[in-house]
Amino acid sequence: MTPIFRTRQAPSPTGYLHLGTARQMLFTNLFAKKNNGVWFVRLEDTDRSRLQAESVKNLLEAMAGLSLTPDEGITLEVTKTHNEYYDIYQKGEYGPYIQSERLSHYHEAAQRLISEKKAYWNFLTPEQKDELRNFKKITKAPIDYLKANQDKYPELDLFMSVDEGLANTQKPALMFHLQRDETITCLDELLGKTTFDLNLEEDFVILKSDGFPTYHLGFAVDDHLMKTSLIIRAQEWYPSLPKHVTILKDLWGQDHGIKFVHLPVILGETGNKKMSKRDGNVNMTDYLDQGYLAEATINYLAFLGWNPGTEKELYLSEDELNTIKTKETRVQKIIENIIPEFTMENISKSSARFNLEKLNWFNREYIKAMNSNTFANEVSNYLDHLATKKEEKTQDIQTQIHQNLGDYKANNSEELIKLAFMLDQNRITTLSELGTDSKCILNWQQPTLEDIKWKKNTIEESLSNLKEIGDFISSKWNTIDLPQDKSSLSYVTEAASVWEDVIKQWLNESDKGIGDYLWPLRVCLSGQKRSPSPFEILGILDQEEAKHRIDLCKK
Ligand code: GLU
Repeated sequence: MTPIFRTRQAPSPTGYLHLGTARQMLFTNLFAKKNNGVWFVRLEDTDRSRLQAESVKNLLEAMAGLSLTPDEGITLEVTKTHNEYYDIYQKGEYGPYIQSERLSHYHEAAQRLISEKKAYWNFLTPEQKDELRNFKKITKAPIDYLKANQDKYPELDLFMSVDEGLANTQKPALMFHLQRDETITCLDELLGKTTFDLNLEEDFVILKSDGFPTYHLGFAVDDHLMKTSLIIRAQEWYPSLPKHVTILKDLWGQDHGIKFVHLPVILGETGNKKMSKRDGNVNMTDYLDQGYLAEATINYLAFLGWNPGTEKELYLSEDELNTIKTKETRVQKIIENIIPEFTMENISKSSARFNLEKLNWFNREYIKAMNSNTFANEVSNYLDHLATKKEEKTQDIQTQIHQNLGDYKANNSEELIKLAFMLDQNRITTLSELGTDSKCILNWQQPTLEDIKWKKNTIEESLSNLKEIGDFISSKWNTIDLPQDKSSLSYVTEAASVWEDVIKQWLNESDKGIGDYLWPLRVCLSGQKRSPSPFEILGILDQEEAKHRIDLCKK
């Protein structure tokens, strides 16, 4: 039986879910699903100085927001294995998935390396290390830490056991002995083969004096024990490949079975550096808070470093978007739809560039492709999501939406809400802009006479024109032919065009000035000086409400 294909993501608890990490998670997940395999997430929390406990929960929440749901590993799902420090859980057979709970595994591996003289304790003082580094500036040759230790300390001390080393008052760190008379050929499945001369490499720390492993030992133990088939990680790790291939081989033999892919970095919009805060937002939580849809974001992220080589960009059809009920299943569908075209050949060996305008385009496309039910659901989920948030930025968004819409659910029928939202759907980029246009329907405020007044006319003339056009509209209401399907987004545009034809014909035939009539009508119907067209509003309101607004304005 061939073993199950397994990939993993191994975040460190140092901050938020970075855009680059989210992209990597997506690719890792794609590789797993393409191979009918398993995707798991392991927490690499061995660097105790950089650790931010609360970041782990935030990370998992942002992943859930994007519907990046691993099959195994750390999770928010309640299981028997609660980790109190992070307030998270774990699931799967290969746990614990939190490195700080796995120290005995690293110590056991370290002990084996010491016994084989492939690892030794480094007793050099900071001054002695500085001296070696200064000398290296002149010789340009790699530092020989083993020899430097052997010159100064008894051989027996260098190879003392893990327990003894960690208890030693001089606080030595354990080094892996990499510098040897050997060349090693490393394969990256994406980038190809490179041969390294290990004589030119330096020995490196694998176990710190606090008993925690460095990444180099941590991953080598865990990826073996957790049966990882393919490590997909950032290209910044590529130079460490000779270290990693050697330590894997020394610990688990030549056939350890772990392969590598190093993903090129994501560049900022300008310049040739890895995208950072300076180039725009890299915090995925912020994108979700602003109302970027998981579907759009995932679809966009896939294109950061992958390209099917065709014109196709949207990996969820309108039909799928509107018939698949949950965000999670829709994102899974996107992943499923990408898989046949997700091949090593289609992954770029060079860096992708972030482009906010493109992400915005995806978001608008998905918003526009939603029918009124799907959109109303999405809005509801988004507002629920915002309500769980305490940060000032998200409170501002909530306040803005509330200012736009007021208590819209209590004051309007469900059908009217859906129709009104179509105005937003046609124009907004993110859900945080909700209400910008629909407010004129859902939260109407009677305009002042000054606002209703068309610039060339007096208030009286404007009101009389309003009455006249109001009467005309009333007379037409029962004779015009509005489209039937009120759930498709084209409804508003089509209904607006019916009203536009009728009204413009009337204005033309009776030689009436457009502004003289349409300005007061629009301001009256919308309650605003800047608003969608009066035709769109007429397409949405029913006869009674339109009449009610006009009557109030005329008074
Ligand atoms: N903890 C490492 C990091 O956050 C993981 C690298 C890897 O994927 O192996 O960079």
